[in-house]
Amino acid sequence: MKIIAIGRNYAAHAKELNNPVPEKPVIFLKPDTAVLKDNKDFYIPSFSNDVHYEIELVLRVCKEGKHVDKKFASSYFDAIGLGIDFTARDLQAVHKQKGLPWELAKAFDHSAPVSSFIPKTDFENLYHIGFSLKKNNVEVQHGNTQNLIFSFETIISFVSEYITLRKGDLIFTGTPEGVGPVQIGDHLEGYLEDKKLLDFHVK
Ligand code: MG
Repeated sequence: MKIIAIGRNYAAHAKELNNPVPEKPVIFLKPDTAVLKDNKDFYIPSFSNDVHYEIELVLRVCKEGKHVDKKFASSYFDAIGLGIDFTARDLQAVHKQKGLPWELAKAFDHSAPVSSFIPKTDFENLYHIGFSLKKNNVEVQHGNTQNLIFSFETIISFVSEYITLRKGDLIFTGTPEGVGPVQIGDHLEGYLEDKKLLDFHVK
């Protein structure tokens, strides 16, 4: 499996990192070795002094898709969960400055904690889902899918023009504003609506 992640999909977050609001989805990948499941501890890697959390809604791909038309795109994911797109912001800044790819800042081992998944049919309106992140019991991020720049269907259609989607792939759909650093000892809790799906410690 692979993780396809969307950058800058909430205008307020693009703004907080001084990035323009994109005209097309900004895509990057994380390998399967990035996945961290079952609320296991996250260890800050030794190569970064500024690892940031980014809470994101995650789509679970349920069938193979290539050149998916937007009007059929919603049938390519069957469940929704939460993920954290951990980002070594210091490495990313250096790579951005030089116009180089962000891979090392985004795709490192265990950079993608992922929660359990909820069937999408459990949600009344996919474009009115609230989600949030607490750090040490204080809410640091809160998003709602009504503020997405690119819809789930647009993302699936766009990505599948270039990269075949496979069953089991995960799509990280972008983070809302409020990203910030983690430190050893932090406790992170992620909520999808009122359900706590992420609950782990930083070591
Ligand atoms: Mg992100």
